[in-house]
Amino acid sequence: MTVFDAIKENLTTRQIIANEGFYISCNGMMKCPFHDDHHPSLNVKERFKCFACGEYGDGINFVAKLYGLSLLNAAKKIADSFNLSYDNNNGIRPTKIVKKVKSDRVVFAEKKRDLLSALSALVSTIALAEREYTPSDSEDATWHPFYIGAMHRKDYVLYLYDYVLFEISTAELEKEMDELTQEVEKLGRKLDAVRGGHKEYA
Ligand SMILES: [Zn+2]
Repeated sequence: MTVFDAIKENLTTRQIIANEGFYISCNGMMKCPFHDDHHPSLNVKERFKCFACGEYGDGINFVAKLYGLSLLNAAKKIADSFNLSYDNNNGIRPTKIVKKVKSDRVVFAEKKRDLLSALSALVSTIALAEREYTPSDSEDATWHPFYIGAMHRKDYVLYLYDYVLFEISTAELEKEMDELTQEVEKLGRKLDAVRGGHKEYA
């Protein structure tokens, strides 16, 4: 709640003026502090108005005028003297805080980077399989499942890598991103499985 709202909801003009030490008669008249008033000529109702000098306004206007304060500082002074709580935000209604969201462009760039880095990891894994697990030329050499799995997927992985890196348009990649990411993750899991010597490769 702004300081202005806090005052409006909790205090009358009469309360605010009386709080400044002015005597207000039961018919709402008081001596005007804004001109040299000898007979009460200032009337206090919902607002105050001086019939002699013409000053008028609400309780905040009264205090502002009395002390030469801005309306905001006058309002704060009033609220503080009545111990009213309010949002200390300079009286400006808090604007809805807009959570800063990543732009679609940034999200896309991050996804593309992740996808390429996952593909690049697959390429490295396959290169490792080729380097470390290529069976010997002898006829009874055993083929390691990792090597088989890697070779089985090598062309596909290289194709995907080229595809994402060079061939696909941004608009197409936006559409296919999730599918491609899932595909690459699946390939990664399969290669991990055969690398561990399990039989999950297919
Ligand atoms: Zn006056």
